[in-house]
Amino acid sequence: MEILCCPECSAELKEENDALLCTGCGRRFQVESGIPLLYPEDLDREHLREEKKLGKEMITPSADRKVSVSGKEWERSKQEFWNYVQVQASSMEKGIFLNIGCGVDLGYLRLGRPGIILAGLDIVPQLIDHLREKGMDFGVAGSVHRLPVRENSFDALCCTDLVHHEWERAEMILARFHSILKPGGMLFLEDINAWGLGQFYKSILLPKNIHGTLRKLYHRVRGTENPPAEYEFPTSVFRIRKMMQELGFRDITAVPLESCPNSGRVFRRFYRLASRLPRVAEYHNFHYMLTARK
Ligand SMILES: [Zn+2]
Repeated sequence: MEILCCPECSAELKEENDALLCTGCGRRFQVESGIPLLYPEDLDREHLREEKKLGKEMITPSADRKVSVSGKEWERSKQEFWNYVQVQASSMEKGIFLNIGCGVDLGYLRLGRPGIILAGLDIVPQLIDHLREKGMDFGVAGSVHRLPVRENSFDALCCTDLVHHEWERAEMILARFHSILKPGGMLFLEDINAWGLGQFYKSILLPKNIHGTLRKLYHRVRGTENPPAEYEFPTSVFRIRKMMQELGFRDITAVPLESCPNSGRVFRRFYRLASRLPRVAEYHNFHYMLTARK
């Protein structure tokens, strides 16, 4: 309760008959199997339904689904991310972590140890429930547009593969991340990089609408099972880094990444070679990983 607030007016919440009541605007929020549903009034319900459908597939993937080499590289990229966070966080004796858009990424749970509280936020309560069963301490359902958590509450924030869903709101989202961190708290951000070696000629050189149309066509012809949503767009590592600087984050670091998701064998070989240059490994991977301190 000390970290939660009303998504609408940011006032404190109090418990009342198995629900949470805002002490400011008076809105009531349901709690479902221990998970407060702190959605803002203007939540896109259609989007929530879509995400719930996807979430189901994430929890119980169809049995005949094969993990491609590219899928394995994707897994590896997550491992790299969590390995790095684990090392960075190892000096922390106690504290509260929040994983924003936690999904079903079990890598997060590796950070759990005595003194550390692992909290997760996602729009889909079923995903939070799944992570809680596996050992996450606490979860809250909400929207990244209006995070229902109080300022200066967290010792560390993790956020992977979310910003490209919200590229138009990136600055607002990063500003909110800054405000909910405690002074000195760490941000660990990973997302799809417009400047990735394999994608910059599309995401940087092509106008967004042409890129969008071509991408849609490509995935339709190919019959991709889970094509990227139309509202998604990779963000530039340089733009995000600049936003972080302007918001007052310090010690901003681009972490070099080895894995090479979403690519073929030949390109992977090319990336391995090119990424011997530190600048390529830091700024031109399929993903970028930026860390910073408040
Ligand atoms: Zn309120």
